[in-house]
Amino acid sequence: MRHPRHDVLFEPITIGPKVLRNRFYQVPHCTGFGTEKPWSQAAFRGMKAEGGWAGVCTEYAPISQDSDTMPLVSSRFWDDADAENLALMCTAVHRHGSLAGIELHHGGVMARPRESRWPAIGPSQISNAMYPDGTAPKEMDVGDIRRVQQDWVAAAVRARDVGFDIVYVYGAHSFLLLQFLSPMLNQRSDAYGGTLENRARLWLETLELVRAAVGSDCAIAARFAVEALGPWGVSTEEGVGFVQMADHLVDLWDITVGAVAGMERIDSAASRFFGEGYELKWTHEVRQVTQKPLVGVGRFTNPDTMAALVRSRELDVIGAARPSIADPFLPKKIEEGRYDEIRECIGCNFCYSRAEYSGHLGCTQNAAAGEEHRRGWHPEVFTPATNADRDVLVVGAGPAGMECSIVLAKRGFGRVHLVEAANEIGGTARWIPKLPGLGEWGRVLGWRTVQLQKLRKNVEIVTGVTISLEQALGYGAELVIVTTGSSWATDGLSGVTFGPIVGADAGEPWVLTPEQIMLEDKRPPGQRVLVYDCEGYFMGAGLAELLREEGHQVVLATPHEQIAPVCFETLESYRLRRRLHEIGVEMMTEISLESIQPGLALGLGPYESPIRLVMDAIVLVTQRTSRDGLYRELMSQPDGVLRSAGIEGVYRAGDCVAPRVLGDAIFDGHRLGREIDGADPAVPLPYLRERPLASQA
Ligand code: SF4
Repeated sequence: MRHPRHDVLFEPITIGPKVLRNRFYQVPHCTGFGTEKPWSQAAFRGMKAEGGWAGVCTEYAPISQDSDTMPLVSSRFWDDADAENLALMCTAVHRHGSLAGIELHHGGVMARPRESRWPAIGPSQISNAMYPDGTAPKEMDVGDIRRVQQDWVAAAVRARDVGFDIVYVYGAHSFLLLQFLSPMLNQRSDAYGGTLENRARLWLETLELVRAAVGSDCAIAARFAVEALGPWGVSTEEGVGFVQMADHLVDLWDITVGAVAGMERIDSAASRFFGEGYELKWTHEVRQVTQKPLVGVGRFTNPDTMAALVRSRELDVIGAARPSIADPFLPKKIEEGRYDEIRECIGCNFCYSRAEYSGHLGCTQNAAAGEEHRRGWHPEVFTPATNADRDVLVVGAGPAGMECSIVLAKRGFGRVHLVEAANEIGGTARWIPKLPGLGEWGRVLGWRTVQLQKLRKNVEIVTGVTISLEQALGYGAELVIVTTGSSWATDGLSGVTFGPIVGADAGEPWVLTPEQIMLEDKRPPGQRVLVYDCEGYFMGAGLAELLREEGHQVVLATPHEQIAPVCFETLESYRLRRRLHEIGVEMMTEISLESIQPGLALGLGPYESPIRLVMDAIVLVTQRTSRDGLYRELMSQPDGVLRSAGIEGVYRAGDCVAPRVLGDAIFDGHRLGREIDGADPAVPLPYLRERPLASQA
């Protein structure tokens, strides 16, 4: 039963001519699906509607060719054929009684219409500093302004006609309408530049036109960064002024902060830097000047927080992108009082990275995200396995092993033994959250621990036992799944040197690996520590921060052109570097170490110049290697040995196959559980691909 204090979250609310059935709203967010993968789009959004989100929106939907962003995938909405693709999503969302929203968009200066070969357009001829490409935009003349407005109206009509209930006139984050509002980017001297009233004119006129065209059928939403935190928009004072000017034209305010451009972006902020509700101070300012329904975001997952916000009217509607990805059924679980089943977002931004840079969204916490159509996975529904009567031994209770065991249990396996060599389950999920700023990543272990507890009739957990070959053979399990993870190289192995670094040996007191620091409490013997990061994600930077906080003098060196380049994809890089700089970590890029000895590291620096780095100790964050010994031993048994031991199949998942990011390791364990009764569970089943086919030309 849900707690009565959460009832307020299930009260309907009117937005223009439409009614949201509750206060949960999936704000527009990228997926990589757009109109390119209409079935993935429909299944993904429809799943959220099924899970209880009363409003479910597309990602940004460019209205015309000069607003294209290829190769980034958007919900292009240029013509009726695009609309037909997105109509699938409307149907899927409506099937569950939710409203479908479309984020109509024009990128202006931020567009990169390389495919369409139109020039980018903007309020003034000031180049795009975010994506430098040797161009500057065309300054829009009045003809361009009218054309954009007509395109917006035409797109709104198309949207209404295929079933969208909520139509956005979207300007955040740094896009055309906000560019006109920005006194830095808008340097016009005509009726569309100068005073706030003039800079707001394009947005206000467009709202009026769209409202006149579809306002009696659709709710009109405005997504607006009320404070750009940089030159790409407006100050809070002007932002609030704009809300007052536009309020009579808007049915739903979707308020954010920050800009896509610029380094201060904090919408979609990683948990490393910002906690739940981090945008509230700005939505509070908007609340003071509008009584229209107000949706705000901030990675909300706590029902008490959400209910308190709605009750106090700080927000009318709880907006979510990432929490709705991590758990599409979050509203339903609250509604039914299944609080301990809520799979909370960890704020890692793996989803953003995959949507923007890989063309297909994934999620660390929710392995089924993005797989609804192409693999037919439902995050809450698991088909009974045809071999569920078998005993299963899962060796290794790290992220992949835990996930696999949960899936097996949900598929009906009644005798899963999850055996872990350490005294506690969790593997890397146990110690990564102890790195500075990564506390919320503890939810990976937290959620799985609770689910395993709930599934204890199916999964028996054994800790402190290292399974040998003999034990695996004699265990009595018909299926053996090895999820023993990976270890950081102790000899400096990486793809930079294609082998060990000469002199590197973590058996020495002055050479350390991440596990030695985090699990064995090994510490550098001297003051000056060199953290050598070839991996390029969070580990090197995290350890540099940790050791600096412990008082060491830290140099973070990397062969890459940028510190922690993977963190660029997760929207962490700028703040991460700034943080390291602020605490006094010295950062060096394009450093390739070839040999180390006590007190000294030798190698090449930028432009292949010889380099000598004086240090007391070195931390090797070069690469991980699979801990696959047991798997290889099992697989190398002579014919008949496994059979006579009663073993029908030996499989592996996660880092034991190949070291990878957490989200992919979890996915791998999940996949194996979903496909354990297939013809060859070791090989992932093919998935549905959405592509143009020559046979249909
Ligand atoms: Fe949250 Fe990470 Fe999943 Fe994105 S990938 S929804 S940030 S848990």
